[in-house]
Amino acid sequence: MKPRILENARIPPLEAALAREYDVHPLWKEADAAAFLREHGREFTGLVTGSLKGASGELIDAMPNLQVIANYGVGYDTIDLGAARRRGVAVSTTPDVLTDCVADFAFGLLIATARQHVAADRFVRDGEWKPGVFFRVTTRVARKRLGVLGLGRIGQAIAQRSTGFGMEVRYHSRRPVAQARWTYEPSLRELAAWCDFLVVACAGGEATRHLVNAEVLDALGPHGFIVNIARGTVIDEAALVAALKNKRIAGAGLDVFEHEPNVPRELLEADNVVLAPHTASGTQETRREMGELVLDNLRSWYRDGRLLTPVA
Ligand code: NAP
Repeated sequence: MKPRILENARIPPLEAALAREYDVHPLWKEADAAAFLREHGREFTGLVTGSLKGASGELIDAMPNLQVIANYGVGYDTIDLGAARRRGVAVSTTPDVLTDCVADFAFGLLIATARQHVAADRFVRDGEWKPGVFFRVTTRVARKRLGVLGLGRIGQAIAQRSTGFGMEVRYHSRRPVAQARWTYEPSLRELAAWCDFLVVACAGGEATRHLVNAEVLDALGPHGFIVNIARGTVIDEAALVAALKNKRIAGAGLDVFEHEPNVPRELLEADNVVLAPHTASGTQETRREMGELVLDNLRSWYRDGRLLTPVA
């Protein structure tokens, strides 16, 4: 008999392969998920979810025979790890396979923000480009200072990309990274004061909530740019809106927001902001590899009770 797996989020690249190997039920199709879980929760031994939906303690508790949660994504801030551990439920994510695409996207956002690609595109489309009328001058990226908040897998890939731009790099995290060739900055405020571009690449969750606050944004200053490809919760969004509005920072490139998919009106209207819909890992190649890693984790779990990429 195929193991019964609950699918908590729509993950199109994964669905056909998942259905071939498992007895899958899409929870997202249920009008009354709580009622469904009351009746059927105990039938499932596996849960497949995405980083946005995650798995609440309530959902985990509603599945008394749950053994494994396979997350399609690397961030697990929406999974109640405490509840999973208490219940002895194993949790996997999809690290490494998405690192390059997220780092590429971060750098793309950084350049698009500094060089104002979106406004330049609009300038051409709106017919504003006329003889003698030129687009405004913008900010150079090459040879500037890059600050990375969170020198993990993605943060390191972003730092590596900056060498092609001749940038100087420093980073902040809770502790220095062994053998990193970039300078560690123990204070995030000092890192912000030092750099021209602050890229947020740390983990989400309660421990990093509003790490980037008004004080950090003021340290970044009126010539500084911020890029966030990590989690919206890491930046105090109200403080960011105020800093952008009052030009206390120069601009922002944002792939993630505090209350997705809701984006504050002030950000939609700001001309010093480039926005993206949480799509940094969203290429066909990477999404396919993320799906394969979810499947490989499940296969490994149901074959010999071991995950390939467990959350530590
Ligand atoms: P990772 O290798 O685990 O790196 C996480 C980094 O965050 C580490 O350097 C860690 O350093 C730092 N960190 C954790 N808590 C911190 C704190 N309280 N203060 C400062 N730094 C802290 O993870 P990754 O693979 O690079 O992914 C990073 C994040 O990117 C994920 O958690 C996810 O939320 C996000 N992401 C977004 C997208 C997207 O589509 N936009 C795609 C993939 C991933 P220390 O532990 O030493 O502090």
